[in-house]
Amino acid sequence: NTFAEIDLGKALNENIRRCKYVKPTPIQRHAIPIAMAGRDLMACAQTGSGKTAAFCFPIISGIMRNPKSMPVWGQGGGGVAYPLALILSPTRELSCQIHDEAKKFSYQTGVKLVVAYGGAPISQQLRNLEKGVDILVATPGRLVDMIERERVSLRMIKYLALDEADRMLDMGFEPQIRRIVEQMEMPRPGPRQTMLFSATFPTEIQRLASDFLSNYIFLAV
Ligand code: AMP
Repeated sequence: NTFAEIDLGKALNENIRRCKYVKPTPIQRHAIPIAMAGRDLMACAQTGSGKTAAFCFPIISGIMRNPKSMPVWGQGGGGVAYPLALILSPTRELSCQIHDEAKKFSYQTGVKLVVAYGGAPISQQLRNLEKGVDILVATPGRLVDMIERERVSLRMIKYLALDEADRMLDMGFEPQIRRIVEQMEMPRPGPRQTMLFSATFPTEIQRLASDFLSNYIFLAV
């Protein structure tokens, strides 16, 4: 009933304590054990429910336990980054918010985060990628751009989280999302764990879930 009782790894548990999270919210209480067990997950969750931590904690914990990401291939600029986890969100604001929160929880874990979003110059974001990235938080359009420039490869992705999936579809991102997920379906080293979060559950979201998730658990809190 408290985070201290869930073994997420020493450094992460310590960061959670530092952030003064004591009791998991309902979505966290249910989603974290499912995700820690390696299962795919579709969760109906509203803003303010604590969904960010619900997908960030298992991802950070998993990466901490299972090092390590590939180094950026090709040094001195223009290299390809191989993140282990991808968190897709609809907007710059939400991506930055997720990045800021995940950063606090990654303190002294060695897990590296980069955020990428449209409407801002790509150059600084590419430089950030070159320093190495375990978890990439991105909006779909900017990520497709980076893939086309061959600056990001998704072949090593082990964890995929789609946040506010219904809003991404409302904004017309479905083609980009499908292109992105296709990149992960090429021959790859191991299985992928996928978590889909959405406030609503219309037919289009159900279709995404059946296309992207395997043998998933449905959670509504
Ligand atoms: P979210 O729904 O992920 O945007 O989270 C909403 C707010 O609740 C954020 O400010 C979080 O930092 C905070 N929060 C999330 N989980 C917890 C928790 N278990 N205990 C205290 N605060 C939390």
